[in-house]
Amino acid sequence: MRTRYHSIIIGGGCLGCASAISVQRRLQQSGKADGAVCVLEKSFVGSGLTARHSGIVRSANAVPIAAELAKIAAEQWYALEDLWGVSASFDACGAIWIARDSGAGGNTKWDTLERQMRDMSIDFRKVSADEARDILPDFVNLYDDELYYLEPGALQFDPSAFRNVLYKALQHNSIDVREKTAVVGFERGEGGSIVAVRTADGERLECEHVVNAAGPWSPAIFAPLGLSVPVSVEPVCVVNWLTSYSEIEGFFPIIADYINLAYFRLWRDNEIHMHQPRKRVVRETARAFAESPLGVIGADLVSDPTNQGLGYTQIRVYEEISRYRFNNIDQSVYGSGYKSYFDITPDLKFILGPDYRVPNLVHCLGAGQAFKYTPVFGEIVADFVCGGDTYAPLAAEFSIKRFDQQYMNDFWGRVSGIDNSLEVEASSL
Ligand SMILES: Cc1cc2nc3c(=O)[nH]c(=O)nc-3n(C[C@H](O)[C@H](O)[C@H](O)COP(=O)(O)OP(=O)(O)OC[C@H]3O[C@@H](n4cnc5c(N)ncnc54)[C@H](O)[C@@H]3O)c2cc1C
Repeated sequence: MRTRYHSIIIGGGCLGCASAISVQRRLQQSGKADGAVCVLEKSFVGSGLTARHSGIVRSANAVPIAAELAKIAAEQWYALEDLWGVSASFDACGAIWIARDSGAGGNTKWDTLERQMRDMSIDFRKVSADEARDILPDFVNLYDDELYYLEPGALQFDPSAFRNVLYKALQHNSIDVREKTAVVGFERGEGGSIVAVRTADGERLECEHVVNAAGPWSPAIFAPLGLSVPVSVEPVCVVNWLTSYSEIEGFFPIIADYINLAYFRLWRDNEIHMHQPRKRVVRETARAFAESPLGVIGADLVSDPTNQGLGYTQIRVYEEISRYRFNNIDQSVYGSGYKSYFDITPDLKFILGPDYRVPNLVHCLGAGQAFKYTPVFGEIVADFVCGGDTYAPLAAEFSIKRFDQQYMNDFWGRVSGIDNSLEVEASSL
C-alpha cells in the first residue's frame, strides 16, 4: 500500500470527499500521478454529520458571500458529472419561506433579503398568500399574520443515497480511501509543515499537503500540535412524522418556517421531516464553547449512539410546532428521530483556507450548514492546494486567522464578562 501522498484529507464527510475529488481531478488535469490523494476516515465515509443532515440546498442567505457560494454550488450540483465524473439525483422541489408580517404586509428584514437576492440574481421573491396556498398542499396551515417567499431553485437530496454517490465518486476518481483509520498525530518538518500523518493503526503516511475536513472533531485532532481550531457543537433534534402516502401525493416544497424556527421537507415520499435551525444568539454560541463538549476526550460524543435517542418531552415540543403548521400531524405517528449536532464556530461562519501556523494545512469546515456547499468547497480547497485562483478568493473572509487572540478574548467576554455574563442574564430571568 502506498505510504506517500500528494494530499491527505482528514475526514470522509461530504466536505472531505469533495476536497479529495477536486484535488485529485486537478492533479490529473495537470498530468500528475493518479492515486496521490488519500482520505483518512476514522469510521465510514459519510458517517459523521453527513449521515444526519436534512439534504436541503437553498441559496437565500442574509450573508452575501454565503448566498454567492450557494448559488455557485447550486449550479455545480446540476453539473456534478462534469465536476466529479458521477452525478447525484435530487428533487428540484423549491422552497417556501414563511416569515412574520410585521405590519402592513411587510417585514423589513425579509424584504431587504428579497432585494439582496434580486441584486445577486438569486430567484427569491415574495408571493401572496393565495399563491402560497396554490403551491402548498391543503394539509399545510397558513395564518393571517404571515408572509411568504418563494425560492424555486431550492433542491432536496436523500442523504442516504448521497452517501452512495460519495463512494462512487471516490472510486471513479481513484482516490485511496482508508476507512476505520483514525488520524492520531503528525510529524512536522522544516518551517513547521506537516511531513507525515500518523494513524491509530501505527501507519506513517507522508504527504505534501493536509486538508482538515474533520468537522467538529478538529479540536481534538490538532490539540497534539498545539493548534486551536475553534469549533464546538450545538445539539439539534430531528423528527420524521409518518403520514399517508396518498395524502402527500409524493410532493411538496421545502418549508422554511421562520415563525416556528423549523425546516420541514418531504422524506421518503411519505414522511414529514423536521429540524430546527442553529440558534443565532452569540450568548448561546459562547455557551457551547464554554461547555467544551468537544474537548479532547469529549469529541466522540458526536457519534456516540447513546446520545442519539430523543426524549418524550422533545418529541412533544416538535409535535406542537408541527401541529401548528400541519393539520394532518395529529393523525400521524412518530416515525423516527434522533439527536445530532451542528458544528459551530464562534461567528457561525465557515473555516476555509490555509492555516497561518502550518504552511501546508488547509481547513474545510462547514459551521453547521455546509452540505449545500459541498462541490464548491471542494473546488476552493483544490485552489488552495493546487495553486488556482478561480474559487479561493471567495473564501477570503473565512480564514481561520480571524479567530486571533483578540477575537477569542472578546468572544470569551460574552461568557465571563461582568456586563455580559450568563450569570447576569440568568438573574434577570
Ligand atoms: C440535523 C442536521 C440537519 C442538517 N441539515 C442540513 C441541510 O439541510 N443542508 C445543509 O446544507 N446542511 C445541513 N446540515 C449540516 C451538514 O450536515 C454539515 O454541514 C455537513 O455534513 C458537514 O460535513 P463535514 O464533511 O464537514 O463533516 P462530517 O460529515 O462530520 O465529516 C467529518 C468526518 O471526520 C471524521 N473524523 C473525525 N475524527 C477523525 C480522525 N481522527 N481521523 C479520521 N477521520 C476523522 C468523522 O468520522 C467524520 O466522518 C445539517 C446538520 C444536522 C446535524
